[in-house]
Amino acid sequence: MILPSSELYNYHSHTQFCDGRASMEEMAVAAFDCGMEIWGFSPHSPIAVESKCNMTKEDVPRYFEEARKITDRYSGKMKVLTGMEIDFLSSDFGPHIDYFQNLPLDYRIGSVHFVPNQDGVPLDCDGRYERFAMYLKDGYQGDLRYVVEKFYEQELMMIERGGFDILGHFDKIAANASLADPTIEEQGWYQALIDDVIRNAKDRGLFIEINTKSCFDKKRFFPSCSIWPRLIDKSKGETAASLLHKTVLINSDAHYPDKVNLGREEAIERFKKL
Ligand SMILES: [Zn+2]
Ligand SMILES: [Zn+2]
Repeated sequence: MILPSSELYNYHSHTQFCDGRASMEEMAVAAFDCGMEIWGFSPHSPIAVESKCNMTKEDVPRYFEEARKITDRYSGKMKVLTGMEIDFLSSDFGPHIDYFQNLPLDYRIGSVHFVPNQDGVPLDCDGRYERFAMYLKDGYQGDLRYVVEKFYEQELMMIERGGFDILGHFDKIAANASLADPTIEEQGWYQALIDDVIRNAKDRGLFIEINTKSCFDKKRFFPSCSIWPRLIDKSKGETAASLLHKTVLINSDAHYPDKVNLGREEAIERFKKL
């Protein structure tokens, strides 16, 4: 994967190919106007379950075609990368499977949005709290701890299977889980899971994303600021500066042209202070 040489990059963005609200061209214009040196497209991958947010397999060739055009258009001005945010569902479906490994992508983001319920049915735990609350009650038998533990189990299995470069928003479940139980992130078992994910991701040499998409509307980054100090292993001589833009990448996960850089500067300044 091409690494940034400055703070002006973003590897996580969405367009009309999935649930983004603008064309690839409109996003590229906004990124260039914002001074980005590296701009990565990362549509939600095709997926084995019904989902309005994900691109279809049929659209994949068209995505590559459009990406090639934009990459050429910005040649010498902005490095445009063709990525994908790939959903992990199980050991049978995730970034590691041949289908995704054989796509000519510049990089892959591995993300968990779907969490299997007690019957193995994957439910989308991302998005609006109202829907999550309904799934929690009717889909997961009201067992919040089950959902959260399963989410991190999926994260760990995805990391173990590999096949991707960037670990996407690895505590995303906390957005909805913390609304159901505001104390959940303070609990010992929860923090142990977070440490497990961080340790495994770093052992595998993954890039770990700090996702800034919801820093204003939900007032949080993914992973949450309270987790950031755990990303830095001082016993190994790591510092915020030694990780920032190297192991830790700051991505906006933009779905709109006016949000290409949203929250990134705030996150960078905050991380530097650690
Ligand atoms: Zn995502
Ligand atoms: Zn995304």
